[in-house]
Amino acid sequence: MDIYRKAADIILNSRYVIAFSGAGASAESGIPTFRDKGGLWEKYPVELFGTPRGLLYVMLTEPGKFAEFISSAIDTLFNAKPNPGHLGIGELEKLGILKYVITQNIDGLHQEAGNRKVIEVHGSITKLRCLACHNIKELSKKQAIDIAKRFSERIKQFRGGELEDAISFFKDAIPYCECGGIMRPDIVFFTEPVHNINAAFEEARKADCCIVVGTSGVVYPAAYVPQIVKSKGGKIIEINPNQNSFDSDVYIDESFSQAMPKILQIIKTAIQ
Ligand SMILES: [Zn+2]
Repeated sequence: MDIYRKAADIILNSRYVIAFSGAGASAESGIPTFRDKGGLWEKYPVELFGTPRGLLYVMLTEPGKFAEFISSAIDTLFNAKPNPGHLGIGELEKLGILKYVITQNIDGLHQEAGNRKVIEVHGSITKLRCLACHNIKELSKKQAIDIAKRFSERIKQFRGGELEDAISFFKDAIPYCECGGIMRPDIVFFTEPVHNINAAFEEARKADCCIVVGTSGVVYPAAYVPQIVKSKGGKIIEINPNQNSFDSDVYIDESFSQAMPKILQIIKTAIQ
């Protein structure tokens, strides 16, 4: 039996299927995985640009470089479109087979592909969080781009200084909550705690099948998700070229956008 059929059979014979995705799932949508060649961290050191403290330091000391970083991040993240792998996962939810997607990605591509039940453990580029009351605000992609662009334009004119200088300089270029608090991107930077991890673990405990895509399983605690499914006797289908990182029942050494449509096709034929 070929591996696609084996994967499809496991999915069809499971009662609660979830998907767990990482950066590799979005690589074919034009978002290079951060650590790969051409990734964001190659040009912008993660110690500075991947942590809140580092970002603040760059903003106050090298505003031009900060603006350049925001522009590249906008270009990369907002221009991306879901690939056939995302669309396959979206269709699995529409068919009632897939119950939840737990993703480490912040790009919103699963939602764009039609998934409604998505847990984003590392936050999202289309959400803002109030620093005062912690209220979360959902934005459209366009609203998020407009805010990022406005901020990036303003920062180009900033000449650096202390935090107080920055706050007054950016006063009318940053978003505010109804409570008056400043809103920040609801993205989990390095050194920050993950989001919704209990909800993610709860889904993992319910699941008897986890489709793992594009993740090497090194980022914890998110990487416990497939391990929980396995520990409860569930099955793991892993799609990740050149890297078999989990104790999978089916490992597919192929890209998400190639493998997922093949599995979906077999499933659709079987249930028609
Ligand atoms: Zn607030």
